Amino acid sequence: MISFADLTTMRVGGPISDYHHFSTTSSLVAGAHEIWRSGKAWMAIGGGSNLVVSDEPSEVAVIHIATRGVTVKKARGHTVTIHAEAGEDWDGFVAHTLAQGVRGLETLSGIPGSVGASIVQNVGAYGAEIAETVVSIDFLEYPSGERITIPATELGLGLRTSALKTGVLRGIVLGVTFALEPSDEGLSIPILYDQLASALGVEVGQRAPLAKVRSAVLALRSSKGMVLSPEDPDSVSSGSFFLNPIVSEKVALKLPATAPRWLVGPEPQDVVVSLGAGESVDLPSLGGEDAMMKLSAAWLIEHSGITKGFSLPGSQAAISSKHALAITNRGGARCEDIAELARYVVTTVANATGIFLEPEPTLVGVEL
Ligand SMILES: Cc1cc2nc3c(=O)[nH]c(=O)nc-3n(C[C@H](O)[C@H](O)[C@H](O)COP(=O)(O)OP(=O)(O)OC[C@H]3O[C@@H](n4cnc5c(N)ncnc54)[C@H](O)[C@@H]3O)c2cc1C
Repeated sequence: MISFADLTTMRVGGPISDYHHFSTTSSLVAGAHEIWRSGKAWMAIGGGSNLVVSDEPSEVAVIHIATRGVTVKKARGHTVTIHAEAGEDWDGFVAHTLAQGVRGLETLSGIPGSVGASIVQNVGAYGAEIAETVVSIDFLEYPSGERITIPATELGLGLRTSALKTGVLRGIVLGVTFALEPSDEGLSIPILYDQLASALGVEVGQRAPLAKVRSAVLALRSSKGMVLSPEDPDSVSSGSFFLNPIVSEKVALKLPATAPRWLVGPEPQDVVVSLGAGESVDLPSLGGEDAMMKLSAAWLIEHSGITKGFSLPGSQAAISSKHALAITNRGGARCEDIAELARYVVTTVANATGIFLEPEPTLVGVEL
């Protein structure tokens, strides 16, 4: 019997007794209708790279989305509109857009998973996120079974979140339409991320050749264990296990001066409650009383004394040896081992800094 351990990049999770695999959109729509009519509990899965599922046997109807197809819908003025079916491999799709000389997704090279799930947490990396290029999704709404087009403005796309992730929208993403820019001179979008700009030898805000940007992103990602590879045990993970917390500027300024922090605006987003601990330093306010700041979860973890490679005694779950933000399965870990280490990280960081980290992957049947 197939199990979640077979379908997820963390390689944990129990056997699935009700598994459905769909490779065409029409069979997916018909299959979902049938499952939904039966009233059974259900869930969707794409590449399984952002899912951590309990070790218990699952009776939930699992809808595995493996639909394929990319169409350039229209080319008009300065925009190329490209539609991809939900089961397309994300990185393969990115490579396809670049091969056509179209820019917009190059810094998102190497992110595992499917095109459909990219919407669920508004995937992002190296200064870009898909919210900047998504036009709309083709959506099968639950429980009505109606097939509708939803514009990007109604998807609640935010920092690693969306209306799908929060449960405001329920259903299946069937396909995603992106508006990208033709790049006649073969140059990328402006590079906004310091580390990527320096790897490319350009100033922040400058452009670089598309192929070079993709290679540099893949190399940076590999150095952090963030490209799936059978040779890299650090990639047996769900990517970043914790969200970068967003806190009030007042809380952020209480952290040591070396803590990385970014002003994200006056709108409170996922506000993280602080217990008020931490060393007070005399940093000037950058954004005023209502300002919110994003913190580095990786920095908070390391600052709390949890080192890269750390594992609890006897456990097969470990912090990645390349990146403090990833929890990895070193071989034969159970979901409970992953959850135990995650709980240890949350408690240790909360005790040291007063900040509670929230998990980034979708957890099914797992409590932290
Ligand atoms: C090594 C590694 C590096 C990563 N790096 C990044 C990164 O840089 N940036 C980033 O944002 N993410 C990153 N991730 C996380 C992950 O790759 C993304 O979240 C990806 O979009 C998940 O796609 P998936 O198809 O694997 O989704 P799954 O894990 O299969 O599913 C994730 C969630 O989406 C739901 N879902 C899946 N498909 C659909 C659909 N068609 N319709 C509705 N719901 C659906 C599932 O039910 C589940 O809740 C990384 C993960 C790994 C393992």
